[in-house]
This record gives sequence, C-alpha cells and structure tokens, in this order.
Amino acid sequence: MPRTGTGHLERLPSGSYRVIVYSGIDPLTGRQLRHRQTAKTEQQARIVLGRLLEQAVSGQRPGSDVTVAEVFDRYMSVAELEPSTRETYEGYIRRTILPALGSMELRKVRGPVLDTFYARLHRCGDLTCTGRRFTEHSRFPVLNVKVGSRQPAWQQVAETIRDAISTGRLELGEQLPSVRQLSVRHGVSVATLQDALGALASEGLIEIRQGRRSVICGDPNEAASSRRVRPNDADHDCARAGCEQHRCRPMSPATIRQIHSILSGAFAAAVRWEWIDRNPAGSAKLPKARHRAPTSPTPAAVAAIIGKARDLDQDLLALYLWLAAVTGARRGELCGLQWADIDLDAGVVHIAFSYLVRAGYKMRKDTKTHQDRHLAVDPVTVAVLRDRFQQVQDLLGSVGLKLAPTAYVFGNDLPGTTPWNPDWVTHKVAEIAKAAGVSLNIKALRHYTASQLLAGGIDLRNTAARLGHGGGGATTLRHYADPVSEVDRRAAAYLAQLTASTGSSGTAPQT
Ligand SMILES: [Zn+2]
Ligand SMILES: [Zn+2]
Repeated sequence: MPRTGTGHLERLPSGSYRVIVYSGIDPLTGRQLRHRQTAKTEQQARIVLGRLLEQAVSGQRPGSDVTVAEVFDRYMSVAELEPSTRETYEGYIRRTILPALGSMELRKVRGPVLDTFYARLHRCGDLTCTGRRFTEHSRFPVLNVKVGSRQPAWQQVAETIRDAISTGRLELGEQLPSVRQLSVRHGVSVATLQDALGALASEGLIEIRQGRRSVICGDPNEAASSRRVRPNDADHDCARAGCEQHRCRPMSPATIRQIHSILSGAFAAAVRWEWIDRNPAGSAKLPKARHRAPTSPTPAAVAAIIGKARDLDQDLLALYLWLAAVTGARRGELCGLQWADIDLDAGVVHIAFSYLVRAGYKMRKDTKTHQDRHLAVDPVTVAVLRDRFQQVQDLLGSVGLKLAPTAYVFGNDLPGTTPWNPDWVTHKVAEIAKAAGVSLNIKALRHYTASQLLAGGIDLRNTAARLGHGGGGATTLRHYADPVSEVDRRAAAYLAQLTASTGSSGTAPQT
C-alpha cells in the first residue's frame, strides 16, 4: 500500500499525463483516498502533483470518488438530530434515497439528476415500478392443514408462517392478508388463524394491529421489492394467494420536499468537508407544495371527538384525547406515560419520556426536546385519572394482581405492560374524528392547547413550557422552586373548563 502523501505521474497512451496522489485511508469509509487528475504536458502535471501533495500532507481531502451512500454514512454519523427526526430521515434514506442514488458518485449528482428523481417519485413512490403494468405477487405461503395430524391445526398454520418469516419469504414490514381473506383463500377457520397469529405475535414475529392488517415486525413502509417476482413454487396460484395488479401511488409533494431537504442537508455537509464544490440540491426543481395552514380546532370540535370516543365505548381513548387536549402532550409522550409519572395528590403529570416504535423495536426514549416537564392538571382531570387508576387496580386486585408503578396508563392490556403503539393511536383517532364528523388529529390537539391558552390570556412563555418547546419555556420553569407554577395551574383549570363546558353534558371522559 502506498504511503500517505506520495504520488506519481503516469504517461497515458494519448500523450497526456495522469497524476495520482495517495492521501491515506478515510477513517469513515475505510477506502483508500486516491486522487487522479490529468494534465496535457509534463510540466503542468508536475505543478498539479505539487499542489495535490501539499493538500494531501496538510490533511485536506483532495477531491474524491465517494458515492452518495458514503456521504449519507458519514452525514448520519455526525448529524445532530432529534430521535424522531433521525428515525424519519433514516426511513427515507433507506427506502428511497439509497436505492435510487446510493451507488452514484457524489460528483455526478447534478440538479437535473435530482429533477428526474423527484419527477419519478411524483409518478410512483415504488422504486421498482417502471410505469408498465405488473402484478404484485403475494409471497404468503399456502396454508395446508393436515387433518388427523397430532399437531393441532393452529400450530401447523403458525409453523408454516414462522418458516416463511425465518426464510425471508415474508419480509419485515410486510402486511399479512386479513384473517377473513386467509380463511376464504386457504380454507382454514377464523378461530384457527386467530390462535396461530396470536402465538406468532407473542413470539414477537408479527404485530397484530387493531383495525389494520397484521404486519411482520419491522418498518411498515419497507416496500418488499421482491413482490414483482412470482414466487417459484409449483402451487403458486395468483387468485388463491390474492396477488394484485400494481397501482401507482404517487409520492406527495410534501414528502418529496422532505426527501429533498434531507439530500440538501447531506450535500451541504459534503460541501463543508470539501468533497464537492457546490450543493447540487440548490438548483433542483421541486414539486409545488400545497400549503395548508395548521388550523386550530375549536373547543366544540375537541368536545365532539371526545364525546364520540365515549359513545363508541372507547373510554380509554377518550381519556387519551382529553389528556392530549388539556396537557398538549405529544402523541408518543402520552403513549409512554406510566402511572409512576402521575402524582394524583399533587395534581401533576410528569412528561419525561416518549414511546416510539422503530423498525419493529419498541422503545421509551427521552422526550423530543430532552426537557422533561411537570404539568399541572386540573381537579376534573385528576378525578378522571384517579377513577381510571382505581378501576384498573380493582380489576387487577380481583385476580390477585397488583398494578406496577411502571404500568402504562395507555396499555394494550390491563396490567399495562405494553403501551399503545403511537401509529395505532393516530389511526384510531382518525377513525373517531371521521365518525364524529370533525377534522382533527393529535397534532391539532397540541395546537388547540396553545391557541386556547394564548386566547385565554395565559402567558406565552408558560404556554411554551407546557408544550415542551425549547428555549424560554424551559428557562421559565427552572425559575420556579415548585416544579409546577401557579400560572400553569391556572392554565390547566382554564383548558379543562373550556373543553368540558362546550360538550352537551360535560365532556370529561368517564372511566
Ligand atoms: Zn401471484
Ligand atoms: Zn407504480
């Protein structure tokens, strides 16, 4: 291996000269840094050689043939991003950016390349799609239940699916057909299928999602590219497997703009590292985004959705919506809330963690802005929380169990060992909003809190603190000896009163 800071000239068949300089190993990519440049005459070549050697010795990278994938490797290892932002970035990089541009040399990426890429995504977000018709083959195995086997039917079904997962036939993030579809196609009873899927879920191989199709544990957006290829088993029957004609799903302008900003950030870093001279994203054409101003829901809309949740016997979800409206907590923050975080006697909710599901891994992380905060809650909310607490304790007590302090308030099971998946909550809230005839999501509830507090004359800095925004809010909170300020307490009472008073018979969720 050549020494760092050495170089030589080569005479090319054309008569011109090639200068080659080694400047060591890139500690990040592990590749040898070698720079080549051609010059017409020997004298020019010697000048170039001198300049490049000087740069190599002074540690400057003299240009490079790094690929876009290598740029992202390095960029993501040094970029300072909030956990949820990093998660979003990594998803787009893995699913969209790397498959399309990863192997491309960074220096060859120009505005027009990006224009074509964005136009392509605008037509269809599936990178394997060429615009021609094709069938998306289901890789789901045939479920043959042997009658008279000593193994129960549900175990046979579970084993077939388990094998398909372990061999990679069914990929991470792939959705399973619904139990009804499976039952019809494979002639297996719904009960058998439910037992089999339940077993697989308890092994952590699949995730059963209420109201949605079950998914092989993993990132739900991971497109299984192999679906273009027909599985080569003799008994693959498209009708029976439920294979469908591919339908193009255009990527939204907002998503394309997000991908663009990720590319632009990484390229800007590459410019700073002197890997390229200018940022190619600067001249790319972007699809126009339709701007939708964030509208803050009215108290009536908030009351309507909470009331609807109660009408539908979704009391726990009603409590979740109520807490979102009166605390302004983020979706994952409420999912991550444990009983130990709530001080019912003091009327304080401590928001310190956020629950997120990433590539099938579930974790409880610091809050988005790494500020934990103590929120005052009003007496009505305290009473509702206390009722729920008591109810869960009583039910558990009746079967000889005790509620653990680490139990999740919003859990899939009564002991609260696993919290709700934030995506499931979004889905459920959308369903209930639709049923209630209001347009509202969890993010809008945060807007509600902010705008109502401001309209009610509650101090802005306190509002920021309540919502967990960085800057002034946190500083304000730190100045109070008591973790919960008097202003915050007034804010809590005001919000609860506002949310409850617009409902016909009071909106506080009953548990
Ligand atoms: Zn097929
Ligand atoms: Zn398509």
